[in-house]
Amino acid sequence: MGITLPGLMDPKDQRSRFSVNLPMTNERSPGRDLKQQLGVDCVIVQESHALCLAERHFGSARGHNDFAILDLCAGVGMGVFAGGRLLTGHCGFAGEIGHVTVEPGGEPCACGNRGCLETVASEPAFLRALGRRLGRNVMWDGALAMIRDEVPEAEEELERLCRFLAIGLGIAVTVLNPSNVFVHSRLFAARPSLLDVLRVEAERSALRPSLHACDIRNGTGSKPQGAIAAVIEHLTEQLAPSIVSRSLSTSHRARRGESG
Ligand SMILES: [Zn+2]
Repeated sequence: MGITLPGLMDPKDQRSRFSVNLPMTNERSPGRDLKQQLGVDCVIVQESHALCLAERHFGSARGHNDFAILDLCAGVGMGVFAGGRLLTGHCGFAGEIGHVTVEPGGEPCACGNRGCLETVASEPAFLRALGRRLGRNVMWDGALAMIRDEVPEAEEELERLCRFLAIGLGIAVTVLNPSNVFVHSRLFAARPSLLDVLRVEAERSALRPSLHACDIRNGTGSKPQGAIAAVIEHLTEQLAPSIVSRSLSTSHRARRGESG
């Protein structure tokens, strides 16, 4: 069984170290608990990493070795493929771009800092900002209707969200030099032209040759697909590691322009 989970996952023991948006899992091992209850093996994968695997196995990143996904939902996450492999970092925590400071001294974030990207560019942040502007609570369906009807307050808040998101995107594009960034967001799905706003805003912060070499578009993978892809990767590494090393050496040869 494959399961996706938000937050910091330690792949060594499949333990959730710290989840801002699902704190009930902190320091717990949901995979181990489920295995005990259900009697089946479970593979836990961080949800942005899962989206990255989904995009590579089933979505628009098939054949790409250096790409990133930007995941806007309850928080903001990033998954990165570099050199044909998922970038996990030393502890498995790579990709937490939602906790990069983009507004020093801004709103408090559940991580303990202030002004993190996800305090201004996540779905809840958008609903909060729109609600403040209108002087009432705004729910998701109401916000979507306002986006559809091009209500000026919603338009201005979307542009503000893009300005902040572009800072995070600019950092990622400048540091990682991906060929593609796939955006996963119900806001961007509702208004695809936001990608153009995002790209224009990113011109202010990204290194331009890296940005101009990067294709930014909406992603097509899903988190359930990511859970399936994680199981496939897990079984491949466990049962047929030679396939992993062979595909890696092939991708390295391809980057060097060799054949075979
Ligand atoms: Zn934070």
